[in-house]
Amino acid sequence: MTKTLHVGYEMMDHEEAIRIVEDAIVVAREEIPKGAVADYIPELGKADPDQLGICIYPLSGEKICLGDYQTRFTIQSISKIISLCVALELFGPEKLFEKVEAEPSGEAFNSLVELDLNSNKPYNPLINSGALAVAGMLIEEVSFHDMLRFARELCDDDQIVMNKDVYNSEMATCSRNRAIAYLLESKEIIQTDVEDALQFYTKLCSLDVTAEALANFANRLANDGVGNLSGKRYLSSETVRIVKTLMLTCGMYDGSGTYAVEVGIPTKSGVGGGLLAVSDKRAGIGVFGPSLDSKGNSIAGCRLLKEIANKLRLTLFFDTDLLHASRKKYSLNDFPKHIPNLPR
Ligand code: GLN
Repeated sequence: MTKTLHVGYEMMDHEEAIRIVEDAIVVAREEIPKGAVADYIPELGKADPDQLGICIYPLSGEKICLGDYQTRFTIQSISKIISLCVALELFGPEKLFEKVEAEPSGEAFNSLVELDLNSNKPYNPLINSGALAVAGMLIEEVSFHDMLRFARELCDDDQIVMNKDVYNSEMATCSRNRAIAYLLESKEIIQTDVEDALQFYTKLCSLDVTAEALANFANRLANDGVGNLSGKRYLSSETVRIVKTLMLTCGMYDGSGTYAVEVGIPTKSGVGGGLLAVSDKRAGIGVFGPSLDSKGNSIAGCRLLKEIANKLRLTLFFDTDLLHASRKKYSLNDFPKHIPNLPR
């Protein structure tokens, strides 16, 4: 029986798809020396930058897992997606968006300038200020252990635990996040214990996951919040829609626009080197590559997704030029023919 990988609008031969991903890994690995592992959290600085792994989990068809897809690394900012899911389920969008906006910030993930100067609310829940605001809401309703249980369930991975070394390392060096949290208190966005909110946020960032666990989670997001095999609903359709939209517009911080042009798959990054990518109605993808670009996104991981986005029809906006290599590209001279009555 021929194995098939059901992605995009066509069914692709499984072996052919594996070859495409293998070739993409070779190209992506060339990016590794151009980046560096995060070391502002000292424990993360110990990671081997050379690692790269991917797991693609289509809604129907077999997983493709290659490279370091079973290596444990800390989830870091991808935990913001878990927190956002839980907050949307618990409070609903109306109450959540009273505390945090849904706009791209155009600033670094740990910025506090735009929060202090332009707005009384964090720009979105996927930057540190927004996630700390969400943490302040969550700690009134759920414990860290509840969150760990949700994380294990959403990622279908019982082995997820908190990495104590990374947690202690970040708590010892998190002056900037502490400053953001107290600024949020001064603006009455955090109305609970600031230190509790900071610890809760940092513990969630320290969960040890794998690329495969992220692919499992992404698969459920791609399938409208429902397990593709079990049929079990994990999250409401509304929650999943909002999360995916924010991933597309804000998931890669101030690199979100360029990433959307180059890859076009809603994705969330973490400074541990993880990427959670949701190819809607097609596949969930988890990537691990700890060498980061200047925005804090996995440099080889982003390149890997760029390489396969169009070839495996994972991107939102499929470029059909690829199917018609000989097709003539439009040039400026063609415009009058196509748009005869341009207004002057
Ligand atoms: N724990 C990290 C921090 O707060 C998460 C940042 C990230 O992954 N971009 O700085």
